Amino acid sequence: MGNLNRMMAQMGKWTHGMLFLVAWGVLMAEIGVGQSAPGMAVDSKIAAALQQISAKRIQSNIEKLVSFGTRLTLSAQDEQSIAAGRGIGAARDWIKAQFEQYSKECGGCLEVKTDSFTEQPMDRIPKATEITNVYAVLKGTDPAQAKRVVLVTGHYDSRNSDTLDVGGDAPGANDDGSGTTVSLECARVLSKLRFPGTIVFLTVAGEEQGLNGSKHFAKMAKDEGWQIDAVLNDDIVGGDKSAEQDHSVIRVFSEGVPAAATDQDIRRIRGLGGESDSTSRELARYISEVGRTYDAGVKPMLVFRLDRYLRGGDNYSFDQQGFTAVRLTEYREDFHHQHQNVRTENGVEYGDLPKFVDYEYVAHVTRLNAATLAALAAAPGAPGNVDILTKELENDTTLTWDAAPGASGYEVLWRNTTSPEWDHAQDFGNVTRATLKVSKDNVIFGVRSMDAAGHKSLPVVPTPER
Ligand SMILES: [Zn+2]
Repeated sequence: MGNLNRMMAQMGKWTHGMLFLVAWGVLMAEIGVGQSAPGMAVDSKIAAALQQISAKRIQSNIEKLVSFGTRLTLSAQDEQSIAAGRGIGAARDWIKAQFEQYSKECGGCLEVKTDSFTEQPMDRIPKATEITNVYAVLKGTDPAQAKRVVLVTGHYDSRNSDTLDVGGDAPGANDDGSGTTVSLECARVLSKLRFPGTIVFLTVAGEEQGLNGSKHFAKMAKDEGWQIDAVLNDDIVGGDKSAEQDHSVIRVFSEGVPAAATDQDIRRIRGLGGESDSTSRELARYISEVGRTYDAGVKPMLVFRLDRYLRGGDNYSFDQQGFTAVRLTEYREDFHHQHQNVRTENGVEYGDLPKFVDYEYVAHVTRLNAATLAALAAAPGAPGNVDILTKELENDTTLTWDAAPGASGYEVLWRNTTSPEWDHAQDFGNVTRATLKVSKDNVIFGVRSMDAAGHKSLPVVPTPER
């Protein structure tokens, strides 16, 4: 009997082991062979370029912007004031000269342009005012991909306590000398590289009066049929040196339900749980992945809302035109140092002065921006017409898409509906159709393009196809 008992016990263990193996096999089939955690390869040229970003240069740029006294959109832009170095006209011309200098250093690789228009009187604009956006274009080298644009922007206008105070100082070191400098320094460093896709380095005016500059630029881009895949809006990225600041974190805000969603889009979003999968949010997730791939010195903290309470910014102008845009802002703002006349009251210093800016932090944020722009401009375009087949009730999932220029393979990403970021990735090679043993009812899918070097596009969430 003792032997029989031992044999039974052994059988039990064996059965248990078999069950485990069977269960493991089912699990593997369920998640699929070749499945891994999402990630992208480090491009050594991009990593080397990030090292060229200079906190010293960022400091001298911000101090120069502050030296114009005020950059209020309503401030002086006549020849005499420009010659005297005071007002928004002088700031505009200096920014343009910087882009032109960088272009000279890269053999004329940048096309430096302005987008000027006259804004008629309206709220915060008491009389007709010329507003000028200044930008530089690093055109893509691949004719099939050069129409894809990634864009970085900051606003070079500033304000003090009174948004109509034309004469008073408005240093705007952090808001938004920091973001303006991100665009400038990204242009200087990335213009030394070449990418298949196009990068635009933009600085806008009119932000403090009502996003006037970015509204005009985004509408122009829409009317002219620009294919802008990503907009990074850096506004207040100075890392104000308040005691509670976290200098290791940069917030990345992204809209949930798109501003440009049609009624039909909203019905689909409501029906299928698409509230957290706007293209802007996919861009935010991509920035998070870039932050894990490249050593920028600062970690993105994704905030799943358009912007902070009571605040807005230039990313919204692009969202409204149906483009993909996020806002980057320091972890903790000091509101004594924004939109305030420079003064000391009861021992508290007010005003947006250079001494409150952490230049190393701005350099870190610039590295994260540059890495994101470069990763996207180096990658093939995203796959087109990504569909999820829903004709039959079935537990497998089949996805189809159109090939993208420059792509040599495609990756399917997915995550649980409750996960903030992509949990799984599976490389399917150079195909335009994939079937996974994962139920579409339980997860959210995305498909992205890859090239041989491991550059990856933004993912596209599929549309249901009957
Ligand atoms: Zn601002």
